[in-house]
Amino acid sequence: MNAEFIESLREICGDGGVIAGEDLATRAGDWRGLTKCGAGAVVRPRSTEEVSQIMKLCHEHGQPVVAAGGLTGLVNGTDATSDQLQISFERMRDIISVDPAGRTMTVEAGVPMQAAQEEARKHGLIYAVDLGARGSATIGGNISTNAGGNQVVRYGMTRDNVLGLEVVLADGTILSSLNSLLKNNAAYDLKQLFIGSEGTLGLVTRAVLRLHPAPLTTSTALLATEDFAQVEELFRHVSGRLGPMLTSFEVMWQSHYRMIAVDSGRHQSPLSGEHGYYIIIEASGMDPDRDEPFFTEVMGGLIEKGLASDAVIASSDSQRQAIWYIREDVEGILSAMAPGVTFDISLPISTMESYIDNLVEAVNREWGSDSRVITFGHLGDGNLHLGVAPRPWSEEAHRRTEELVYRPLEAIGGSLSAEHGIGLQKRDWLHVSRNAGELAVMKLLKRTLDPKGLLNPGKVFADAQN
Ligand SMILES: Cc1cc2nc3c(=O)[nH]c(=O)nc-3n(C[C@H](O)[C@H](O)[C@H](O)COP(=O)(O)OP(=O)(O)OC[C@H]3O[C@@H](n4cnc5c(N)ncnc54)[C@H](O)[C@@H]3O)c2cc1C
Repeated sequence: MNAEFIESLREICGDGGVIAGEDLATRAGDWRGLTKCGAGAVVRPRSTEEVSQIMKLCHEHGQPVVAAGGLTGLVNGTDATSDQLQISFERMRDIISVDPAGRTMTVEAGVPMQAAQEEARKHGLIYAVDLGARGSATIGGNISTNAGGNQVVRYGMTRDNVLGLEVVLADGTILSSLNSLLKNNAAYDLKQLFIGSEGTLGLVTRAVLRLHPAPLTTSTALLATEDFAQVEELFRHVSGRLGPMLTSFEVMWQSHYRMIAVDSGRHQSPLSGEHGYYIIIEASGMDPDRDEPFFTEVMGGLIEKGLASDAVIASSDSQRQAIWYIREDVEGILSAMAPGVTFDISLPISTMESYIDNLVEAVNREWGSDSRVITFGHLGDGNLHLGVAPRPWSEEAHRRTEELVYRPLEAIGGSLSAEHGIGLQKRDWLHVSRNAGELAVMKLLKRTLDPKGLLNPGKVFADAQN
Protein backbone atom coordinates (compact mmCIF):
# COMPACT_ATOMS: atom_id res chain seq x y z
CA MET A 1 0.00 0.00 0.00
CA ASN A 2 1.75 3.15 -1.11
CA ALA A 3 2.55 6.13 1.09
CA GLU A 4 0.38 8.49 -0.91
CA PHE A 5 -2.69 6.29 -0.40
CA ILE A 6 -1.99 6.03 3.34
CA GLU A 7 -1.65 9.81 3.49
CA SER A 8 -5.06 10.20 1.80
CA LEU A 9 -6.56 7.91 4.47
CA ARG A 10 -4.97 10.09 7.18
CA GLU A 11 -6.55 13.16 5.62
CA ILE A 12 -9.95 11.50 6.00
CA CYS A 13 -9.60 9.97 9.49
CA GLY A 14 -6.90 12.05 11.20
CA ASP A 15 -3.48 10.85 12.43
CA GLY A 16 -4.82 8.35 14.99
CA GLY A 17 -7.16 6.93 12.38
CA VAL A 18 -4.58 4.97 10.41
CA ILE A 19 -2.22 2.23 11.59
CA ALA A 20 0.51 1.23 9.15
CA GLY A 21 4.13 0.12 9.00
CA GLU A 22 5.78 -1.01 12.24
CA ASP A 23 2.77 0.02 14.33
CA LEU A 24 0.85 -2.86 12.74
CA ALA A 25 3.08 -5.44 14.47
CA THR A 26 1.10 -5.18 17.72
CA ARG A 27 -2.34 -5.56 16.07
CA ALA A 28 -4.00 -8.93 16.66
CA GLY A 29 -5.68 -10.82 13.83
CA ASP A 30 -8.18 -12.69 16.04
CA TRP A 31 -9.97 -12.44 19.40
CA ARG A 32 -7.43 -14.62 21.22
CA GLY A 33 -4.42 -12.72 19.88
CA LEU A 34 -3.00 -15.94 18.42
CA THR A 35 -2.45 -14.41 14.99
CA LYS A 36 -1.23 -11.02 13.80
CA CYS A 37 -3.27 -8.68 11.64
CA GLY A 38 -2.25 -9.50 8.06
CA ALA A 39 -3.62 -6.35 6.39
CA GLY A 40 -1.28 -3.80 4.76
CA ALA A 41 -2.87 -1.05 6.90
CA VAL A 42 -5.77 -0.51 9.29
CA VAL A 43 -8.08 2.47 9.03
CA ARG A 44 -10.34 3.45 11.94
CA PRO A 45 -13.15 5.78 10.81
CA ARG A 46 -15.12 7.83 13.35
CA SER A 47 -18.35 8.25 11.37
CA THR A 48 -20.43 6.99 8.47
CA GLU A 49 -19.23 9.98 6.44
CA GLU A 50 -15.61 8.90 6.95
CA VAL A 51 -16.44 5.30 5.96
CA SER A 52 -18.05 6.68 2.81
CA GLN A 53 -14.98 8.80 1.96
CA ILE A 54 -12.68 5.80 2.57
CA MET A 55 -14.74 3.65 0.19
CA LYS A 56 -14.82 6.39 -2.45
CA LEU A 57 -11.02 6.50 -2.29
CA CYS A 58 -10.74 2.69 -2.36
CA HIS A 59 -13.15 2.50 -5.29
CA GLU A 60 -11.11 5.01 -7.23
CA HIS A 61 -7.85 3.11 -6.54
CA GLY A 62 -9.27 -0.44 -6.82
CA GLN A 63 -8.23 -1.04 -3.18
CA PRO A 64 -9.73 -4.18 -1.56
CA VAL A 65 -10.99 -3.88 2.03
CA VAL A 66 -11.84 -6.22 4.91
CA ALA A 67 -14.26 -5.02 7.61
CA ALA A 68 -13.37 -5.89 11.21
CA GLY A 69 -15.53 -5.79 14.33
CA GLY A 70 -14.50 -7.65 17.50
CA LEU A 71 -12.58 -10.34 15.53
CA THR A 72 -14.53 -13.09 17.31
CA GLY A 73 -15.83 -14.65 14.08
CA LEU A 74 -15.03 -18.35 13.81
CA VAL A 75 -14.68 -18.79 10.02
CA ASN A 76 -11.64 -16.60 9.20
CA GLY A 77 -13.94 -13.90 7.79
CA THR A 78 -11.59 -11.10 8.89
CA ASP A 79 -8.36 -12.64 7.60
CA ALA A 80 -6.56 -10.10 5.43
CA THR A 81 -3.49 -10.04 3.21
CA SER A 82 -0.88 -7.31 2.88
CA ASP A 83 -2.54 -5.86 -0.24
CA GLN A 84 -5.82 -5.41 1.67
CA LEU A 85 -6.97 -2.57 3.91
CA GLN A 86 -8.70 -3.43 7.18
CA ILE A 87 -11.57 -1.09 8.12
CA SER A 88 -12.01 -1.36 11.87
CA PHE A 89 -15.15 -0.05 13.54
CA GLU A 90 -13.52 0.36 16.96
CA ARG A 91 -13.99 4.15 16.98
CA MET A 92 -17.69 3.95 16.03
CA ARG A 93 -19.11 2.89 19.39
CA ASP A 94 -21.91 5.38 20.04
CA ILE A 95 -25.28 4.29 21.30
CA ILE A 96 -27.21 6.96 19.46
CA SER A 97 -30.68 6.65 20.98
CA VAL A 98 -33.14 4.39 22.75
CA ASP A 99 -36.88 4.62 22.15
CA PRO A 100 -38.48 2.86 25.14
CA ALA A 101 -42.02 3.13 23.77
CA GLY A 102 -41.13 1.91 20.28
CA ARG A 103 -38.70 -0.61 21.87
CA THR A 104 -35.80 0.24 19.58
CA MET A 105 -32.17 1.24 19.98
CA THR A 106 -30.05 2.94 17.31
CA VAL A 107 -26.33 2.18 17.52
CA GLU A 108 -23.11 2.53 15.58
CA ALA A 109 -21.60 -0.65 14.15
CA GLY A 110 -18.66 -0.85 16.56
CA VAL A 111 -20.79 -1.00 19.74
CA PRO A 112 -19.94 -4.21 21.60
CA MET A 113 -22.92 -6.55 21.95
CA GLN A 114 -22.71 -6.46 25.76
CA ALA A 115 -22.78 -2.63 25.82
CA ALA A 116 -26.02 -2.70 23.78
CA GLN A 117 -27.47 -5.33 26.12
CA GLU A 118 -26.57 -3.28 29.21
CA GLU A 119 -28.00 -0.07 27.76
CA ALA A 120 -31.28 -1.83 26.93
CA ARG A 121 -31.51 -3.12 30.53
CA LYS A 122 -31.37 0.46 31.85
CA HIS A 123 -34.73 0.98 30.13
CA GLY A 124 -36.33 -2.25 31.36
CA LEU A 125 -35.71 -3.82 27.95
CA ILE A 126 -33.34 -6.41 26.45
CA TYR A 127 -31.45 -6.82 23.21
CA ALA A 128 -32.19 -10.50 23.01
CA VAL A 129 -29.38 -11.83 20.81
CA ASP A 130 -26.80 -13.26 23.18
CA LEU A 131 -23.64 -15.32 22.79
CA GLY A 132 -20.47 -16.25 24.65
CA ALA A 133 -18.31 -13.61 22.93
CA ARG A 134 -20.68 -10.80 24.00
CA GLY A 135 -17.90 -8.68 25.55
CA SER A 136 -15.90 -8.38 22.30
CA ALA A 137 -18.28 -9.09 19.42
CA THR A 138 -19.77 -5.95 17.88
CA ILE A 139 -23.25 -5.21 16.60
CA GLY A 140 -21.79 -4.69 13.09
CA GLY A 141 -20.12 -8.12 13.27
CA ASN A 142 -23.30 -9.72 14.66
CA ILE A 143 -25.32 -8.28 11.80
CA SER A 144 -22.78 -9.22 9.15
CA THR A 145 -22.72 -12.83 10.40
CA ASN A 146 -26.45 -12.96 11.31
CA ALA A 147 -25.33 -14.27 14.70
CA GLY A 148 -27.56 -16.74 16.52
CA GLY A 149 -26.56 -17.71 20.04
CA ASN A 150 -28.30 -19.01 23.12
CA GLN A 151 -31.81 -17.57 22.87
CA VAL A 152 -32.80 -18.23 19.27
CA VAL A 153 -35.46 -20.70 20.35
CA ARG A 154 -37.37 -17.76 21.83
CA TYR A 155 -36.22 -14.57 20.11
CA GLY A 156 -34.83 -15.67 16.73
CA MET A 157 -31.50 -14.77 15.16
CA THR A 158 -29.96 -11.33 14.58
CA ARG A 159 -32.07 -11.02 11.41
CA ASP A 160 -35.19 -11.09 13.59
CA ASN A 161 -33.83 -8.43 15.93
CA VAL A 162 -32.76 -5.74 13.45
CA LEU A 163 -35.31 -3.28 12.08
CA GLY A 164 -33.14 -0.92 10.07
CA LEU A 165 -29.61 -0.51 8.74
CA GLU A 166 -27.30 2.12 7.39
CA VAL A 167 -24.73 0.70 4.99
CA VAL A 168 -21.87 2.11 2.95
CA LEU A 169 -21.67 0.50 -0.48
CA ALA A 170 -18.51 -0.44 -2.38
CA ASP A 171 -18.41 2.89 -4.25
CA GLY A 172 -18.91 4.94 -1.07
CA THR A 173 -22.65 5.53 -1.48
CA ILE A 174 -24.43 5.76 1.88
CA LEU A 175 -27.58 3.64 1.87
CA SER A 176 -29.70 4.80 4.78
CA SER A 177 -32.48 2.36 5.60
CA LEU A 178 -32.86 3.12 9.30
CA ASN A 179 -36.42 1.84 9.55
CA SER A 180 -37.72 1.57 13.10
CA LEU A 181 -41.15 0.13 12.37
CA LEU A 182 -42.05 -3.45 13.15
CA LYS A 183 -44.30 -3.57 10.12
CA ASN A 184 -43.05 -2.07 6.88
CA ASN A 185 -43.86 -3.78 3.61
CA ALA A 186 -42.99 -0.83 1.37
CA ALA A 187 -41.39 -2.98 -1.33
CA TYR A 188 -38.06 -4.79 -0.88
CA ASP A 189 -36.59 -5.07 2.60
CA LEU A 190 -33.03 -4.07 1.63
CA LYS A 191 -31.50 -4.60 5.06
CA GLN A 192 -31.96 -8.36 4.70
CA LEU A 193 -29.44 -8.34 1.84
CA PHE A 194 -26.69 -7.15 4.14
CA ILE A 195 -27.56 -9.17 7.23
CA GLY A 196 -25.39 -12.30 7.08
CA SER A 197 -23.44 -11.12 4.03
CA GLU A 198 -20.11 -11.13 5.98
CA GLY A 199 -18.91 -7.75 4.73
CA THR A 200 -19.05 -8.81 1.07
CA LEU A 201 -21.97 -6.62 -0.07
CA GLY A 202 -21.62 -3.47 2.05
CA LEU A 203 -20.23 -2.03 5.29
CA VAL A 204 -22.72 -1.73 8.13
CA THR A 205 -22.30 1.62 9.88
CA ARG A 206 -25.47 1.94 12.00
CA ALA A 207 -28.41 -0.21 12.97
CA VAL A 208 -31.83 0.08 14.56
CA LEU A 209 -32.18 -2.88 16.93
CA ARG A 210 -35.45 -4.37 18.06
CA LEU A 211 -35.76 -4.65 21.86
CA HIS A 212 -38.04 -6.76 24.04
CA PRO A 213 -39.38 -6.26 27.58
CA ALA A 214 -36.78 -7.45 30.10
CA PRO A 215 -37.94 -10.62 31.86
CA LEU A 216 -38.24 -10.28 35.64
CA THR A 217 -37.31 -13.88 36.36
CA THR A 218 -34.75 -16.30 34.96
CA SER A 219 -34.64 -19.94 35.98
CA THR A 220 -31.92 -22.34 34.88
CA ALA A 221 -31.47 -26.09 35.26
CA LEU A 222 -28.88 -28.64 34.21
CA LEU A 223 -30.32 -32.07 33.51
CA ALA A 224 -28.93 -35.43 32.50
CA THR A 225 -30.47 -38.12 30.30
CA GLU A 226 -29.12 -41.46 29.13
CA ASP A 227 -30.30 -41.69 25.54
CA PHE A 228 -31.21 -39.35 22.70
CA ALA A 229 -34.84 -40.45 22.53
CA GLN A 230 -35.18 -39.00 26.05
CA VAL A 231 -33.61 -35.73 24.89
CA GLU A 232 -36.13 -35.41 22.04
CA GLU A 233 -39.03 -36.24 24.33
CA LEU A 234 -37.68 -33.83 26.94
CA PHE A 235 -37.61 -31.02 24.37
CA ARG A 236 -41.18 -31.74 23.28
CA HIS A 237 -42.43 -31.96 26.85
CA VAL A 238 -40.60 -28.89 28.18
CA SER A 239 -41.56 -26.74 25.15
CA GLY A 240 -45.18 -27.66 25.75
CA ARG A 241 -45.11 -26.96 29.49
CA LEU A 242 -43.00 -23.79 29.48
CA GLY A 243 -44.40 -22.41 26.21
CA PRO A 244 -43.00 -18.96 25.38
CA MET A 245 -41.06 -18.91 28.67
CA LEU A 246 -38.52 -21.38 27.22
CA THR A 247 -35.47 -19.28 26.34
CA SER A 248 -32.70 -21.86 25.87
CA PHE A 249 -32.48 -25.60 25.33
CA GLU A 250 -28.82 -26.55 25.00
CA VAL A 251 -27.44 -30.07 24.80
CA MET A 252 -23.94 -31.42 25.45
CA TRP A 253 -23.11 -34.96 24.44
CA GLN A 254 -21.16 -36.98 27.02
CA SER A 255 -17.97 -36.62 24.94
CA HIS A 256 -18.15 -32.84 25.24
CA TYR A 257 -19.26 -32.67 28.88
CA ARG A 258 -16.58 -35.07 30.09
CA MET A 259 -13.83 -33.19 28.27
CA ILE A 260 -14.86 -29.71 29.45
CA ALA A 261 -16.61 -30.18 32.79
CA VAL A 262 -14.55 -33.08 34.16
CA ASP A 263 -11.19 -33.72 32.44
CA SER A 264 -10.16 -30.11 31.75
CA GLY A 265 -9.98 -29.16 35.44
CA ARG A 266 -11.53 -25.81 34.46
CA HIS A 267 -14.98 -26.45 36.00
CA GLN A 268 -16.76 -28.28 38.80
CA SER A 269 -19.47 -30.54 37.48
CA PRO A 270 -22.78 -29.77 39.26
CA LEU A 271 -23.96 -33.35 38.57
CA SER A 272 -22.34 -36.55 39.79
CA GLY A 273 -21.83 -39.75 37.82
CA GLU A 274 -21.62 -40.00 34.07
CA HIS A 275 -24.59 -39.63 31.75
CA GLY A 276 -25.28 -39.85 28.04
CA TYR A 277 -26.45 -36.25 27.51
CA TYR A 278 -26.47 -33.03 29.54
CA ILE A 279 -29.12 -30.40 28.90
CA ILE A 280 -29.31 -26.77 29.99
CA ILE A 281 -32.87 -25.51 30.15
CA GLU A 282 -33.51 -21.85 30.80
CA ALA A 283 -36.86 -20.11 31.14
CA SER A 284 -37.68 -16.47 31.74
CA GLY A 285 -40.89 -14.75 32.65
CA MET A 286 -42.67 -11.79 34.16
CA ASP A 287 -44.15 -13.15 37.38
CA PRO A 288 -41.68 -13.29 40.30
CA ASP A 289 -44.24 -14.99 42.57
CA ARG A 290 -45.20 -17.81 40.24
CA ASP A 291 -42.40 -18.39 37.69
CA GLU A 292 -39.85 -20.07 39.93
CA PRO A 293 -42.25 -22.46 41.68
CA PHE A 294 -43.69 -23.35 38.27
CA PHE A 295 -40.22 -24.00 36.81
CA THR A 296 -39.30 -26.15 39.83
CA GLU A 297 -42.53 -28.09 39.45
CA VAL A 298 -41.91 -28.74 35.72
CA MET A 299 -38.27 -29.78 36.31
CA GLY A 300 -39.20 -31.93 39.32
CA GLY A 301 -41.73 -33.88 37.26
CA LEU A 302 -39.15 -34.81 34.63
CA ILE A 303 -37.36 -37.40 36.74
CA GLU A 304 -40.68 -38.98 37.79
CA LYS A 305 -41.74 -39.18 34.15
CA GLY A 306 -38.46 -40.90 33.18
CA LEU A 307 -37.42 -37.95 31.00
CA ALA A 308 -34.30 -37.17 33.04
CA SER A 309 -32.01 -39.18 35.29
CA ASP A 310 -30.66 -36.31 37.32
CA ALA A 311 -31.21 -32.56 37.58
CA VAL A 312 -29.97 -29.49 39.40
CA ILE A 313 -31.70 -26.11 39.46
CA ALA A 314 -29.45 -23.07 39.88
CA SER A 315 -30.28 -21.38 43.16
CA SER A 316 -28.13 -18.29 42.67
CA ASP A 317 -26.78 -16.20 39.82
CA SER A 318 -23.27 -17.58 40.38
CA GLN A 319 -24.59 -21.15 40.05
CA ARG A 320 -26.38 -20.17 36.87
CA GLN A 321 -23.18 -18.65 35.48
CA ALA A 322 -21.16 -21.74 36.42
CA ILE A 323 -23.59 -23.91 34.44
CA TRP A 324 -23.44 -21.62 31.42
CA TYR A 325 -19.67 -21.33 31.61
CA ILE A 326 -19.38 -25.08 30.98
CA ARG A 327 -21.44 -24.66 27.82
CA GLU A 328 -19.73 -21.45 26.66
CA ASP A 329 -16.12 -22.45 27.30
CA VAL A 330 -15.08 -22.20 23.66
CA GLU A 331 -11.49 -21.53 24.65
CA GLY A 332 -11.40 -24.81 26.62
CA ILE A 333 -12.69 -26.69 23.59
CA LEU A 334 -10.26 -25.10 21.16
CA SER A 335 -7.26 -25.89 23.39
CA ALA A 336 -8.39 -29.45 24.20
CA MET A 337 -9.14 -30.34 20.58
CA ALA A 338 -6.08 -28.73 18.95
CA PRO A 339 -5.13 -29.61 16.34
CA GLY A 340 -8.67 -30.23 15.15
CA VAL A 341 -11.60 -28.77 13.24
CA THR A 342 -14.76 -27.22 14.65
CA PHE A 343 -18.07 -27.23 12.84
CA ASP A 344 -21.38 -25.40 13.17
CA ILE A 345 -24.10 -27.32 11.39
CA SER A 346 -27.88 -27.47 11.52
CA LEU A 347 -30.10 -30.45 10.81
CA PRO A 348 -33.54 -31.78 11.73
CA ILE A 349 -33.59 -32.88 15.39
CA SER A 350 -34.95 -36.30 14.34
CA THR A 351 -31.76 -37.00 12.33
CA MET A 352 -29.22 -35.85 14.94
CA GLU A 353 -28.61 -39.10 16.76
CA SER A 354 -27.93 -41.23 13.67
CA TYR A 355 -25.92 -38.43 12.04
CA ILE A 356 -23.56 -38.18 15.05
CA ASP A 357 -23.34 -41.96 15.53
CA ASN A 358 -22.40 -42.39 11.85
CA LEU A 359 -19.84 -39.62 12.08
CA VAL A 360 -18.14 -41.09 15.17
CA GLU A 361 -18.07 -44.49 13.49
CA ALA A 362 -16.57 -43.05 10.30
CA VAL A 363 -13.90 -41.10 12.23
CA ASN A 364 -12.94 -44.20 14.25
CA ARG A 365 -12.86 -46.32 11.11
CA GLU A 366 -10.66 -43.82 9.32
CA TRP A 367 -8.17 -42.92 12.06
CA GLY A 368 -8.75 -45.21 15.05
CA SER A 369 -10.13 -44.47 18.50
CA ASP A 370 -7.38 -42.00 19.49
CA SER A 371 -9.29 -39.50 17.38
CA ARG A 372 -12.01 -37.46 19.08
CA VAL A 373 -15.45 -36.19 18.18
CA ILE A 374 -17.28 -33.91 20.59
CA THR A 375 -20.80 -32.60 20.14
CA PHE A 376 -22.83 -29.86 21.77
CA GLY A 377 -25.17 -27.15 20.62
CA HIS A 378 -28.34 -25.12 20.60
CA LEU A 379 -30.48 -28.22 20.05
CA GLY A 380 -33.74 -26.30 20.44
CA ASP A 381 -33.07 -24.62 17.11
CA GLY A 382 -31.49 -27.58 15.31
CA ASN A 383 -27.93 -26.28 15.63
CA LEU A 384 -25.04 -28.54 16.63
CA HIS A 385 -21.40 -27.63 17.11
CA LEU A 386 -18.86 -30.38 16.53
CA GLY A 387 -15.20 -30.68 17.29
CA VAL A 388 -13.34 -33.34 15.35
CA ALA A 389 -9.69 -34.12 16.04
CA PRO A 390 -8.33 -36.83 13.73
CA ARG A 391 -5.07 -38.45 14.91
CA PRO A 392 -2.53 -38.22 13.48
CA TRP A 393 -3.40 -34.70 12.34
CA SER A 394 -2.53 -33.65 8.78
CA GLU A 395 -3.94 -31.29 6.19
CA GLU A 396 -5.23 -34.30 4.31
CA ALA A 397 -7.01 -35.54 7.45
CA HIS A 398 -8.50 -32.04 7.86
CA ARG A 399 -9.91 -32.15 4.33
CA ARG A 400 -11.27 -35.66 4.82
CA THR A 401 -12.90 -34.61 8.13
CA GLU A 402 -14.77 -31.86 6.29
CA GLU A 403 -15.97 -34.41 3.79
CA LEU A 404 -17.21 -36.75 6.54
CA VAL A 405 -19.11 -33.92 8.23
CA TYR A 406 -20.52 -32.08 5.22
CA ARG A 407 -21.41 -34.76 2.66
CA PRO A 408 -24.18 -36.48 4.70
CA LEU A 409 -25.88 -33.11 5.30
CA GLU A 410 -26.93 -32.91 1.67
CA ALA A 411 -29.25 -35.92 1.92
CA ILE A 412 -30.94 -34.80 5.16
CA GLY A 413 -31.42 -31.14 4.18
CA GLY A 414 -28.92 -29.88 6.74
CA SER A 415 -26.83 -26.71 6.59
CA LEU A 416 -23.04 -26.50 6.72
CA SER A 417 -23.37 -23.21 8.60
CA ALA A 418 -26.07 -22.68 11.19
CA GLU A 419 -24.82 -19.36 12.58
CA HIS A 420 -21.10 -18.70 12.04
CA GLY A 421 -21.19 -17.98 8.30
CA ILE A 422 -18.92 -19.11 5.49
CA GLY A 423 -15.83 -16.85 5.53
CA LEU A 424 -12.82 -18.64 4.12
CA GLN A 425 -13.39 -21.88 5.97
CA LYS A 426 -16.54 -23.21 4.33
CA ARG A 427 -16.69 -21.64 0.90
CA ASP A 428 -15.53 -24.81 -0.90
CA TRP A 429 -18.48 -26.70 0.59
CA LEU A 430 -21.22 -24.12 0.07
CA HIS A 431 -22.76 -26.28 -2.69
CA VAL A 432 -23.74 -28.83 0.01
CA SER A 433 -26.41 -26.46 1.34
CA ARG A 434 -27.17 -24.15 -1.62
CA ASN A 435 -28.30 -25.22 -5.07
CA ALA A 436 -26.90 -23.95 -8.38
CA GLY A 437 -29.76 -21.47 -8.85
CA GLU A 438 -29.23 -19.96 -5.40
CA LEU A 439 -25.47 -19.68 -5.93
CA ALA A 440 -25.95 -17.98 -9.32
CA VAL A 441 -28.26 -15.31 -7.84
CA MET A 442 -25.90 -14.74 -4.90
CA LYS A 443 -23.00 -14.12 -7.29
CA LEU A 444 -25.18 -11.84 -9.43
CA LEU A 445 -25.96 -9.76 -6.32
CA LYS A 446 -22.27 -9.60 -5.42
CA ARG A 447 -21.28 -8.47 -8.93
CA THR A 448 -24.07 -5.88 -9.00
CA LEU A 449 -23.31 -4.32 -5.62
CA ASP A 450 -19.53 -4.71 -5.78
CA PRO A 451 -18.50 -4.87 -9.47
CA LYS A 452 -14.83 -4.33 -8.70
CA GLY A 453 -14.78 -7.11 -6.06
CA LEU A 454 -13.41 -4.80 -3.34
CA LEU A 455 -15.45 -5.93 -0.32
CA ASN A 456 -13.92 -8.82 1.62
CA PRO A 457 -12.60 -10.52 -1.53
CA GLY A 458 -12.39 -14.31 -1.48
CA LYS A 459 -14.77 -14.68 1.47
CA VAL A 460 -17.99 -16.66 0.93
CA PHE A 461 -17.01 -17.27 -2.74
CA ALA A 462 -13.48 -17.96 -3.94
CA ASP A 463 -14.24 -15.75 -6.92
CA ALA A 464 -17.65 -14.17 -7.25
CA GLN A 465 -16.74 -12.51 -10.55
CA ASN A 466 -17.01 -15.88 -12.40
C1 LIG B 1 -16.51 -17.60 22.70
C2 LIG B 1 -17.29 -17.44 21.44
C3 LIG B 1 -18.62 -17.81 21.40
C4 LIG B 1 -19.36 -17.64 20.24
N1 LIG B 1 -20.67 -18.01 20.23
C5 LIG B 1 -21.42 -17.80 19.14
C6 LIG B 1 -22.80 -18.16 19.12
O1 LIG B 1 -23.34 -18.73 20.08
N2 LIG B 1 -23.51 -17.86 18.02
C7 LIG B 1 -22.96 -17.25 16.92
O2 LIG B 1 -23.67 -16.98 15.95
N3 LIG B 1 -21.65 -16.91 16.91
C8 LIG B 1 -20.88 -17.17 17.97
N4 LIG B 1 -19.54 -16.84 17.95
C9 LIG B 1 -18.96 -16.23 16.74
C10 LIG B 1 -18.88 -14.68 16.74
O3 LIG B 1 -18.90 -14.16 18.03
C11 LIG B 1 -20.00 -14.07 15.90
O4 LIG B 1 -19.83 -14.46 14.55
C12 LIG B 1 -20.04 -12.53 15.97
O5 LIG B 1 -21.24 -12.10 15.39
C13 LIG B 1 -18.87 -11.84 15.29
O6 LIG B 1 -18.84 -10.47 15.67
P1 LIG B 1 -17.49 -9.63 15.56
O7 LIG B 1 -17.80 -8.21 15.87
O8 LIG B 1 -16.42 -10.25 16.38
O9 LIG B 1 -17.17 -9.77 14.01
P2 LIG B 1 -15.78 -10.04 13.30
O10 LIG B 1 -15.23 -11.35 13.70
O11 LIG B 1 -14.89 -8.88 13.46
O12 LIG B 1 -16.26 -10.13 11.78
C14 LIG B 1 -17.10 -11.16 11.36
C15 LIG B 1 -17.49 -10.95 9.89
O13 LIG B 1 -18.29 -9.78 9.76
C16 LIG B 1 -17.65 -8.81 8.93
N5 LIG B 1 -17.88 -7.50 9.56
C17 LIG B 1 -17.57 -7.11 10.82
N6 LIG B 1 -18.03 -5.87 11.05
C18 LIG B 1 -18.63 -5.46 9.92
C19 LIG B 1 -19.31 -4.27 9.52
N7 LIG B 1 -19.49 -3.25 10.35
N8 LIG B 1 -19.81 -4.21 8.26
C20 LIG B 1 -19.67 -5.23 7.39
N9 LIG B 1 -19.04 -6.37 7.70
C21 LIG B 1 -18.55 -6.50 8.96
C22 LIG B 1 -16.19 -9.21 8.87
O14 LIG B 1 -15.57 -8.80 7.67
C23 LIG B 1 -16.29 -10.73 8.97
O15 LIG B 1 -16.58 -11.28 7.72
C24 LIG B 1 -18.76 -17.06 19.09
C25 LIG B 1 -17.41 -16.70 19.12
C26 LIG B 1 -16.68 -16.90 20.27
C27 LIG B 1 -15.25 -16.47 20.26
